[in-house]
Amino acid sequence: MGLSIGHRIAPTTSNGASGTVIDDRASVADAVIIGSGQGGVPLAVALAKREKRVFLFERAQFGGTCVNNGCTPSKAFLASAHGAGRARRAAKIGVHADVRVDFHAVMQRVNAIIAEWRDGIEPKLRKAGVTIVRAEASFTGERIVSGGGTSVRADIVVIDVGASPSAPPIPGLAETPYVDNTTFFQIRELPRRTIVIGGGYIGLELGQGLARCGSDVHVVHSGTRIMEREEPDASEALAESLREDGIRLTLGAKIERVTYAGGEFTVTLATGEHIQSDALLVATGRTPNTGALDVERSGIVLDSRGFVQTDAFLRTACEGVYAIGEVAAQPAFTHVAWEDHRRILSTLDGTPRRRDDLPLAYATFTEPQIARTGLTVDEARAQGYDALAVTLPGAEVARAIEWNEERGFYRLVIDAGTDRSCSRSRCTFTRRTPKAFRRSRGSSKMKKRRELSEGKSAGDPCPYGTSAPRSFVHLQYVHPCALPARIEDLLIATCR
Ligand SMILES: Cc1cc2nc3c(=O)[nH]c(=O)nc-3n(C[C@H](O)[C@H](O)[C@H](O)COP(=O)(O)OP(=O)(O)OC[C@H]3O[C@@H](n4cnc5c(N)ncnc54)[C@H](O)[C@@H]3O)c2cc1C
Repeated sequence: MGLSIGHRIAPTTSNGASGTVIDDRASVADAVIIGSGQGGVPLAVALAKREKRVFLFERAQFGGTCVNNGCTPSKAFLASAHGAGRARRAAKIGVHADVRVDFHAVMQRVNAIIAEWRDGIEPKLRKAGVTIVRAEASFTGERIVSGGGTSVRADIVVIDVGASPSAPPIPGLAETPYVDNTTFFQIRELPRRTIVIGGGYIGLELGQGLARCGSDVHVVHSGTRIMEREEPDASEALAESLREDGIRLTLGAKIERVTYAGGEFTVTLATGEHIQSDALLVATGRTPNTGALDVERSGIVLDSRGFVQTDAFLRTACEGVYAIGEVAAQPAFTHVAWEDHRRILSTLDGTPRRRDDLPLAYATFTEPQIARTGLTVDEARAQGYDALAVTLPGAEVARAIEWNEERGFYRLVIDAGTDRSCSRSRCTFTRRTPKAFRRSRGSSKMKKRRELSEGKSAGDPCPYGTSAPRSFVHLQYVHPCALPARIEDLLIATCR
């Protein structure tokens, strides 16, 4: 494919320059990466291994959100918390455990894993030959990046600065010692009572984790249901499980103010209710880290929320400057930032890749987990597809019943036009497709279609295939037994 878009890296000349007009005060490089997140590090390493002169700026710790205060610590924390939760629930299958959580040990382990992952990054960068600048970067000219006394001009600049937790403008909140995901993993003593503001995946993963460790958790959420991006029955299945863990959910809440006195937080709702706790976790959204970048000096444009504006190929308004991961308003997942680095490499190699060239798969690591890829049936219909949904309740999966893990469901949304069998899906913890999904189409195809489109559950054959357009196939499962790590397998199998 010819390169009509994107920007190739010019061959490095013998003196290390790449043919760019040189600003006297700036070093010259082939590429500058800003941020050592999940996309920035592999990109810097890959380019350096191609003998490009690469600079990477990092203002904080190596590894970005995922390693330091996102995926890694939250999943390590949940490993302990879910261990405790499952042990307690095992009473229903005749196993009675006296669960005692050593919270200090839990958090020590979490932090040891963070350190291990983080400590591997700098040697990897150095070994590849990346020049590291430990400073906050900003643009000081077109494709000139400066920070910590270093200025670098490059043909290619990739912005991978991520996002930070945003605090809602609740009166009094800023004056309290609340925690967010950047400080949560520094807690060493389990709070007796915790209020979580926010019913999205961060608040719920950490909230359920705390509850399973023994804290009395109260989730206060402004929306009328938790996990509002998912379908209502997914929200409900999770809400039911959270309540079983002893978590109180206050939905549709309007918080009037937050105060802190004598070691106690008080959250006052518009209803007049006062909720007290020993800890307050705020998980209400993310703000892009573009404040310090001075992007306009390089002709880069931000959108109204502060994310870097890019086109379909992650190119900014300034030629040669790309943005990847969260700061490019990509879905906030680590595998998206990582895949973006491959997109950029491909584009630089002359095979441009679009930001939306793969269906997104993701999981929330609550119990039950919620995982999804593709469109919901409503979204698909809104896009004009002849969409059908088939739902298999966990209560109809034999192994789920045997394991006492019947909560939740599996759902496929299918383009009736392609009408192929879904024989390769694997979405149970046995890694085998539930029977109802495995069976091939029956003779009463049209009748079945009608039943399915009317929302009846599929306890019997699913006549609809999974070879629908990749962007359209949707699968959702809300099930404690599911293996989100294999969601990619599931996706690949589903899309064949
Ligand atoms: C609690 C929590 C749990 C999560 N769990 C999951 C999960 O299970 N699965 C999943 O896929 N995703 C998860 N995520 C999301 C995931 O962590 C992020 O989407 C991902 O890390 C974003 O990567 P990024 O490369 O865009 O940015 P980041 O990883 O945030 O990297 C940005 C880097 O840029 C640096 N930086 C910022 N500004 C500058 C500057 N001006 N100069 C120099 N350096 C700068 C920052 O210090 C940082 O190191 C979770 C997030 C949170 C908060």
